[in-house]
Amino acid sequence: MKLTTLKPRLQTAGGRLAVLQPIRPNTVQRKRGWAGVQDRERIRKRDCGLCQECLRQGLTSVGSDVDHKIPLWKGGSDDDDNKELLCITHHKEKSAREAKDRARG
Ligand SMILES: [Zn+2]
Repeated sequence: MKLTTLKPRLQTAGGRLAVLQPIRPNTVQRKRGWAGVQDRERIRKRDCGLCQECLRQGLTSVGSDVDHKIPLWKGGSDDDDNKELLCITHHKEKSAREAKDRARG
């Protein structure tokens, strides 16, 4: 096997990974500023300050981040029923998964 034939192929794959899909024009923009703060506080209270993903796994952890169950860029809404409180670990895991999805297109 010639190693020289592998090199350009790897470079192409690496370059493709770096390209993110453009945000759809009809994507709901998340609330910012004071409205966003109030939203997050409301979800935090509703979810009793606990990570909802941990609860589903039978664990009890303090939630820190309010997350969109279906990401806005995937067409998810900015309504309360599309949001839940997650711990840092689960939020990071979900974000990493979604970033991969998004890069794949
Ligand atoms: Zn969790």
